[in-house]
Amino acid sequence: MRALVSLLRRIEGLGGRVRRNGHLIDIHAGSADPVRLRPYLYILLNRYERDHFIAIRNMPVCAMPDAWDHFFQMRGRVSRDSRCTACRFHASCVGPSRGFMPSCFADIPREVAIEVTTACNLACGICFHAGADSRHLPLSALFKVFKQMRHAGCHYVRFTGGEPLLYPHLQKAVITAKKFGFQVSLNTNGLLFDEARAEFFRHYADSILISMQGCDSLSESRLTGIKSDFRAKLRRIRLIANQCRHVRIGTVVSQHLIDHLADYLRILRSAQATYWELYRPIAASLHEDYQLKQGDFIKLVRCLKRYRGPLSIKVANPVPFCIAGDPANNCHLFLGGLWDDGHTRLVLDTRGFYKPSYAMNKDLGTDLLKAWRNPLVRRLRSLVYLPTKCRRCFYAGWCKGGSRQWALHSGGTLWTSDPWMPHE
Ligand code: SF4
Ligand code: SF4
Repeated sequence: MRALVSLLRRIEGLGGRVRRNGHLIDIHAGSADPVRLRPYLYILLNRYERDHFIAIRNMPVCAMPDAWDHFFQMRGRVSRDSRCTACRFHASCVGPSRGFMPSCFADIPREVAIEVTTACNLACGICFHAGADSRHLPLSALFKVFKQMRHAGCHYVRFTGGEPLLYPHLQKAVITAKKFGFQVSLNTNGLLFDEARAEFFRHYADSILISMQGCDSLSESRLTGIKSDFRAKLRRIRLIANQCRHVRIGTVVSQHLIDHLADYLRILRSAQATYWELYRPIAASLHEDYQLKQGDFIKLVRCLKRYRGPLSIKVANPVPFCIAGDPANNCHLFLGGLWDDGHTRLVLDTRGFYKPSYAMNKDLGTDLLKAWRNPLVRRLRSLVYLPTKCRRCFYAGWCKGGSRQWALHSGGTLWTSDPWMPHE
């Protein structure tokens, strides 16, 4: 803690202003020179992001382009600098300070997630493709997406499914994506990994997300719908974790997880996992294990807050930050809605059209930029539909007022409040 205090003093010494509240560290750049402040902010992020929510304000986003997701992004500070008018952050960025050369962010998706197949070797109760026919994305459609991404300037592609390792052209697709210069991510259940595949993805994947629903054979079998050899699964997770870069484990929160959190944590430790992502179940799941009440999730949040082990744990899809009271006490556990509901990425469906998120089956057409500029997606990103309480909220740029899919499910429209948002 002393190291953190001294780092924050250093930031203040450069002219920055620091506000601490619970797990929030809110840095206002104040009069500091962004170029001098930047190295200290990177140290802060690299060392303390796991246990803190670090927000950066009053500094050009392009001073730290790879930390864009830490910048305060509510509208109202429109940059007046004419060099910034084409920038995606124009409506929320403070703009460049004197002597600083701005570098515009193109208004494009940060990532395209490509559902290469609906085929899967599991039958998870929470799957977006439950009950769908098995189909593969034609290779020609995939290459067309790569060309659109290159044309737009989008550098991040994620291969997902179904189980993408069942896609017959996966290796060719991954090699081609690297030739296009993209950063490649893979979502997989890990079961089809062997030494040869681990070796392939060690070379070609920049990050791998492995799903793990249960914490033993019985629960993994029940939650994935297929009899499971959990020890074999753990062996594969270890193999991937040892061989590949930036490996995360992803688990949809179930009642079983809430009741057996300590077992999950023990198993993840034995599997040498470093990052654990949790996901709020999607609205449409009929599987009883995933029919959580707000109180169940609050219980989980309180348990996670007490965790002091080595794992970095984040809830990676939209949940209202205020679900368990003052967001300052829990914000470090949430990534918010940044990666969902068309805010940052688009998803390509196996039928060849873009959609705003994995769960939101709105056909946005087959052109990447047109899909990104689609009125529905623009409105989703605008947040104008949020209640006043959210629009005034410090966390809204990250929280996004929770999940639009849950708003639709509970209120019949995308534009109503997330049902887990506490009422006054
Ligand atoms: S280009 Fe301008 S608006 Fe965009 S991040 Fe940089 S300073 Fe901000
Ligand atoms: S944006 Fe809305 S839902 Fe999110 S923390 Fe703030 S008040 Fe709660």
